[in-house]
Amino acid sequence: MAVPRSRGALSVAAAAKNYKITLLPGDGIGPEIMAVAKDILVEVGSQRDIAFDFTECLVGGAAIDATGVPLPPETLATCQASDAVLLAAIGGYKWDTLPADQRPEQGLLGLRAGLGVFANLRPANILPQLIDASSLKREVVEGTDIMVVRELIGGIYFGKPKGFGTDEAGNRTGFNTMVYSVPEIERIARVGFETAKKRSNRLCSVEKSNVLEVSQLWKEIVTKVHQEEYPEVELSHMYVDNAAMQIIRAPTQFDTIVTGNIFGDILSDAASMLTGSIGMLPSAAVGTDGPGLYEPVHGSAPDIAGTDKANPLAQVLSAAMMLRYQFGEEEAAAQMEKAVNDALDEGYRTGDIMSSGCTQVGCKKMGEILMEKIKA
Ligand code: NAD
Repeated sequence: MAVPRSRGALSVAAAAKNYKITLLPGDGIGPEIMAVAKDILVEVGSQRDIAFDFTECLVGGAAIDATGVPLPPETLATCQASDAVLLAAIGGYKWDTLPADQRPEQGLLGLRAGLGVFANLRPANILPQLIDASSLKREVVEGTDIMVVRELIGGIYFGKPKGFGTDEAGNRTGFNTMVYSVPEIERIARVGFETAKKRSNRLCSVEKSNVLEVSQLWKEIVTKVHQEEYPEVELSHMYVDNAAMQIIRAPTQFDTIVTGNIFGDILSDAASMLTGSIGMLPSAAVGTDGPGLYEPVHGSAPDIAGTDKANPLAQVLSAAMMLRYQFGEEEAAAQMEKAVNDALDEGYRTGDIMSSGCTQVGCKKMGEILMEKIKA
């Protein structure tokens, strides 16, 4: 069972820097958008003596079809041995009827756990060209630039005990446990502070300490990490219900938000919709060290797979996040982001972000336009 499909074809031995990247195109539109991001990476790298050693592996439905499981051990081992992992998306109608524990999504959970990536970074920034695609008024969303740092592998989604039971009156119950340990809070708090430092130095910690003991500990430990390690960062605290309201009411008040798993899941989805299109949003999942996992927020869009209608921009922006957060290649990351910005400025749009007066293009064409900008 040879899961890796290619290795090293694009590496340049003489390059000053060489990064090993596992590519996981996955399912649906995944291979189409990954092809665009890969070509752009190669070009951006070649302009500054950076070589990428790509290995492509199977994950999700494609891996189920080929091997019977969504995360073959070879895929995980290859990811763990690389410098970073770039994922497109997984899932599709074909595998929807499988039992939950055998579905493509399990591949993603296994990947996050296997890489120990406990912090999910999800930016939600409004691009001026797409401001009218937001469901909120221009004057409310203009200037929005939020980074949600969500704890990813703890909290109520993983806490024990969990399950089904029966209460004293004989009624069926379902239960989960929201639990965080001090080290878990400390490490996500540090990612929050470090992220804020790279942005405008403001961090808002979101919890529900007026009701939950787990949140009281969260607030105490975030405050302690702040005082002892990051006194230069401006820290504020907000209850999650208020944060949900404030994100819709006045999103520009936020810069970096740090929060637990379930609160981050909900708030980052809400924040992402401010931007108007899911096809534009990248994300990163990182640990203390080791390879991070970089992927678009959207899924595999099986409804448009194979039709050349996919928007590849979130995938390209995920690759840019990889360059910035994994490798510290700020200049290369900014070049990719500028190419996206320039393409939008010139009115090029895929179907999902199309508006009147713009030029509609497919996934491949958008890739060619980005390449022209990168080469210019
Ligand atoms: P989805 O994000 O795949 O699609 C939602 C809608 O947005 C669809 O109409 C789709 O066509 C459109 N869309 C999404 N990305 C687009 C892009 N890049 N360009 C243009 N249009 C785009 O979400 P869904 O329909 O709920 O899920 C489809 C499959 O993806 C499911 O199997 C789901 O489990 C999976 N999924 C995977 C991930 C992941 O891999 N991280 C995340 C979410 C959903």
